[in-house]
Amino acid sequence: MPAITNPTALILVTGANGFLGTWIVRQLLEKGHRVRAAVRSMDKGLYLRELFESHSGNLELVIIGDMTEAGAFANAVRNVDGIIHTASPVTTFADDPNEVIQPAMKGVIGILESARDHGARVSRIVVTSSSAAIMDTEDEEITVSELDWNDRRVQECEALGRQASGLSKYSASKTLAERAAWEYVQRNRGEIAWDLTAINPPYIFGPTIHNVETPASLNSSSKRFYNALVNNDFDGVQPMERPGHGWVDERDVAAAHIKALETPDAGGERIIVSAGEWVWQDIINTALSLPNSIYRPHREVTGPEEVKRRFITFSPDKRERILGLKLRSMEECVGDILVDFAGRGVVSLSGLAGTADVKLRSFRDQG
Ligand code: NAP
Repeated sequence: MPAITNPTALILVTGANGFLGTWIVRQLLEKGHRVRAAVRSMDKGLYLRELFESHSGNLELVIIGDMTEAGAFANAVRNVDGIIHTASPVTTFADDPNEVIQPAMKGVIGILESARDHGARVSRIVVTSSSAAIMDTEDEEITVSELDWNDRRVQECEALGRQASGLSKYSASKTLAERAAWEYVQRNRGEIAWDLTAINPPYIFGPTIHNVETPASLNSSSKRFYNALVNNDFDGVQPMERPGHGWVDERDVAAAHIKALETPDAGGERIIVSAGEWVWQDIINTALSLPNSIYRPHREVTGPEEVKRRFITFSPDKRERILGLKLRSMEECVGDILVDFAGRGVVSLSGLAGTADVKLRSFRDQG
């Protein structure tokens, strides 16, 4: 299976200005790779240039505009050795399901087509999928693996259209985009020299290094974290209720993408990257238990114990066996997020344990 073995290989990262994309760019640069960062517009790219000034010789920007346009990635893929495709709409507030499904599918097919037609040097493509493309049940205590597909949410969107839940629309976008990618590879097997890996994370949390100037402009998962810890707003669930089925630190998800580029056996695989189940109360308890933590919720936020704590468990097998990737603890993740928030002046915290050394920008408003 082809993989990226050259330490100075040129890697195209889409969604490079996003929450996850910026961490992937950072880790690639720190490993010595050259990075071509794909963004929609120059203003989004300039922030990356500033953030990674010390790696300026290894960072190129490419403006792709809207990836739903035909040929959006045609120039971006030229002369790159590998591709990490993170770009996809991330929201649970779509009205028409096609607001998320179409960009997700057109984006992934667009980059695979461009790689086939113009990416002569490409040897591996890693796409960011999601656990939302895997689990198709909510209420059973089962272990799911990469053999599972979330077709239930797709069917819900087909049946209910705009009336389907926001989560179903997002989940359908991830399922359909990832399925489309594997089908594309299958159909074009004779014409491509590269192979594909999908990374399937659940909720991703971690300190933010992308360009965030207000809490309102945080990416979807960070906004939930912010609202929960800073505003005691748990997005319609109780602190002891299950908000999702897994969580993982974004720096580990970034590392998983890079390991997937480099590991021959990752070719042709979907790989779940999950650190385990969680409820908001776990995160609050973790925040309170950190050494020297002065984090205090605005009010007591314990919930009834009888709430739904039934979780789907995600198989760790491929992540451990193929990628050999160990994951950060909740303590490290939460500690570093609080350090990030504190650095932005959001909550008054000091003396927290944490290892974040991220470049911070202040939130302009605290609302
Ligand atoms: P994010 O910060 O919102 O990043 C999304 C990126 O995709 C942004 O760079 C965005 O560009 C780009 N994008 C979206 N639509 C586009 C379009 N039509 N044309 C060009 N670029 C477009 O979200 P994230 O959390 O980092 O998510 C990155 C990936 O991880 C996504 O594929 C997501 O489904 C997956 N994922 C995320 C989580 C999570 O909890 N965060 C969990 C599982 C999987 P703009 O900034 O210009 O809009």
